[in-house]
Amino acid sequence: MPLVDRTLLGPGPSNPYPEATAALAAPLLGHLDPEFLRILDETCARLRTVWGTGNARTLPLSGTGSIGMEAAFANFVRPGDTVVVAVNGLFGERMTDVAARYGADVVRVDHEWGQPVDVQRVVEAHPSPAIIAAVHAETSTGVRSDIAALAAAAPDSALVLADCVTSLAGIPVDIDGWGVDIAYAGTQKCLGVSPGLAPFTVSERAWERRAQRPPTWYLDLNLIGAYVDGSQGGRTYHHTAPVALIASLHAALGRILDEGLEAVYERHRAAGEHLQRGLQDLGLTLFAEEGHRLPELTTVTVPDGVDSAKIRQILLTEHNIEIGAGAGRYAASVWRIGLMGHNARVERADLVLATLGRLLR
Ligand code: PLP
Repeated sequence: MPLVDRTLLGPGPSNPYPEATAALAAPLLGHLDPEFLRILDETCARLRTVWGTGNARTLPLSGTGSIGMEAAFANFVRPGDTVVVAVNGLFGERMTDVAARYGADVVRVDHEWGQPVDVQRVVEAHPSPAIIAAVHAETSTGVRSDIAALAAAAPDSALVLADCVTSLAGIPVDIDGWGVDIAYAGTQKCLGVSPGLAPFTVSERAWERRAQRPPTWYLDLNLIGAYVDGSQGGRTYHHTAPVALIASLHAALGRILDEGLEAVYERHRAAGEHLQRGLQDLGLTLFAEEGHRLPELTTVTVPDGVDSAKIRQILLTEHNIEIGAGAGRYAASVWRIGLMGHNARVERADLVLATLGRLLR
């Protein structure tokens, strides 16, 4: 095994919480073992707390964050439904593609990258959409959008769908308080677990509008629910649950809730603001609009004349620090620096600031 131990300060994956890593080494359990089912139930209960929801249908889906996106559109779009998607970065863009593949008539509301979602424009884009979708934390640009305001302004007839891949367990998410109907996340960011699971939650009113036979077998929430919550009279096999990853998520959630959600948010806030101040002190320009910057993912403009890829390569190979390139047309002109989960600490910000500062001198 190579002796490479990187500090993962890109847009994800981040270094897992030690508790999440330790759980991977526990003896494996069968996916129908009562002891594993207890861990699964507790994982769903812990997820409800972190999502801020009482939704009965709150579960980890097998697959990365994109599986959450796929499941959201596959189970709640009916062919010909109007789906309004706020696009202010790569992941809003991806939503338009996924929604269209499941038969949606997509109305996209484009924004300049680096800007938050303009709630007014989004809700005025169509009088009666079936779904309004937006990304809470746009990892491609480092921007936070106001999902609470979007849900409050959305017409009653529309289900509100939020991508919380980079927000869950990093900045406040309050599914019930905000009135969000469908949301998904990923484990490799602020939840501090390796990639492979997509926490998912569905409100009761959305559940009543689900497709009875979605055009996907693997992501059919009716079938998955029969295993996860035994909702159809006992727990039946659907697919083999990734037991080790779920145990790892269970441990990370335990760690997060022991620390306390408010303390976890505060740790992300303090680390992110420290990094953003430090980058500006180095003379660098932040990319995301001020007032809407994510603490867990900072975007910074690469200074003129600096070879963006070369700096990232030196950071990686000589200092074992991974940071991310920009996304889309900003691939070469922006760096993305993540301080997520276990890495959301001022010391990690200082490490990248000191190293980057030396390389740019
Ligand atoms: N949505 C957002 C906001 C993301 O940041 C990502 C991944 O970075 C995804 C969706 C897709 O998740 P994954 O790459 O885990 O499939």
